[in-house]
Amino acid sequence: MSFEYSAKTLDLMERLNAFMDEHIYPNEQRFFAEVAEGDRWQPTRLIEALKVKAKAAGLWNLFLPESEYGAGLSNLEYAPLCEIMGRVIWAPEVFNCSAPDTGNMEVLVRYGTPEQQERWLKPLLAGEIRSAFAMTEPEVASSDATNIACRIERDGDEYVINGRKWWTSGANDPRCKIFIVMGKTDPDNPNRHRQQSMILVPRDTQGVKIVRHLPVFGYDDAPHGHAEIVFDNVRVPASNILLGEGRGFEIAQGRLGPGRIHHCMRLIGLAERALEKMCKRSLQRVAFGKPVAAQTVTLERIAESRILIDSARLLTLKAAYMMDTVGNKVAAKEIAMIKVAAPNMACQVIDWAIQAHGGGGVTDDFGLAYAYAQARTLRLADGPDEVHRNAIGKMELAKYVGKDAIKAYVGASGVSRA
Ligand SMILES: Cc1cc2nc3c(=O)[nH]c(=O)nc-3n(C[C@H](O)[C@H](O)[C@H](O)COP(=O)(O)OP(=O)(O)OC[C@H]3O[C@@H](n4cnc5c(N)ncnc54)[C@H](O)[C@@H]3O)c2cc1C
Repeated sequence: MSFEYSAKTLDLMERLNAFMDEHIYPNEQRFFAEVAEGDRWQPTRLIEALKVKAKAAGLWNLFLPESEYGAGLSNLEYAPLCEIMGRVIWAPEVFNCSAPDTGNMEVLVRYGTPEQQERWLKPLLAGEIRSAFAMTEPEVASSDATNIACRIERDGDEYVINGRKWWTSGANDPRCKIFIVMGKTDPDNPNRHRQQSMILVPRDTQGVKIVRHLPVFGYDDAPHGHAEIVFDNVRVPASNILLGEGRGFEIAQGRLGPGRIHHCMRLIGLAERALEKMCKRSLQRVAFGKPVAAQTVTLERIAESRILIDSARLLTLKAAYMMDTVGNKVAAKEIAMIKVAAPNMACQVIDWAIQAHGGGGVTDDFGLAYAYAQARTLRLADGPDEVHRNAIGKMELAKYVGKDAIKAYVGASGVSRA
């Protein structure tokens, strides 16, 4: 196992760092100022202008391994680049590398028909439109995908969709033109993995109603946002189904692997940034006759942060390496491990950074409160910690009793998102 960065990655890292220095860090506050001007649910001039520059600089669609559409990077090669973008919460979109579009583009690349790709993938790759992924529902515990109640029913040449979703990230953005919706086409199928399907629903279809946006610890994440949506007798052509009826769970598994690891890569960047701020601030502030940095508790926290970040990075690189070499399915345990480790690591490091900033830490002056809110949600989004830990535990136990016998010991939990 070699984690050495390739020449291609090193070159891109250098160019990406230069871009961040020139265009992203100096504009960090401008982004929030633009969002605060007038209608918050409009794209910012800043991001739209920087997208043009990033494209021109060849820093575009860096995700997408094994595809002619991306930059031709493996997951391992992409990891340090995604980390750099993750240092500023809004930066990934500048490079067309933000969630949930990256996951949705992967779905369209891997499972879309040529017509679906032409209609939706091309404008997404060009950064002209955005997309959302609607799986979670308010009425059912959606950690367990078998609970999903939204119905997708065939009616002649169309499918009719009825259901209520929430936490559909990005749906509030007016550029968001397409939803990938997960629902049940065959709720009575005895194979619980084959009841679900995914279907493409253009946002402007009659019957799609965005009910409200959902704040995260009071942050609206505008203009991206997270929406609750009702699908009321929404009709789309039958050709909008992805991969075929009953294949939704299969797509979900394929989609969530890369998406999860991208979140982890970004969180490592976010935690690095928090540690940087913790060090600088605690060196400057003097309390009880010495810099806060010189208090042993601060030194301990700085040291522990470095250990946690570097451990999470290594585990992320290992998961990326395995995805590249043995595939997402075999790498499931490593993906689940890092999905638990990275958000917990980031929450801890950011929390210590907040503490080192005193009252300033919980204001918006240092970006730490917002960073914490983001990191904390990732202990839930893409499946809660517990579900991933259950999966890891079962894989570990299966070494001793076999994969099939494991249910007899720990019970058959539902078909989880893990
Ligand atoms: C900011 C944000 C963005 C999101 N974006 C999207 C999106 O774009 N699209 C989308 O479809 N969803 C999205 N989600 C939803 C997210 O994926 C779900 O919230 C998550 O999967 C959990 O589902 P749930 O909320 O229904 O929790 P529930 O299923 O109700 O679970 C509640 C709690 O029960 C516990 N629990 C569940 N299962 C187990 C278990 N097996 N063992 C032990 N404890 C367990 C856990 O503590 C869990 O947090 C987002 C969520 C957030 C917060």
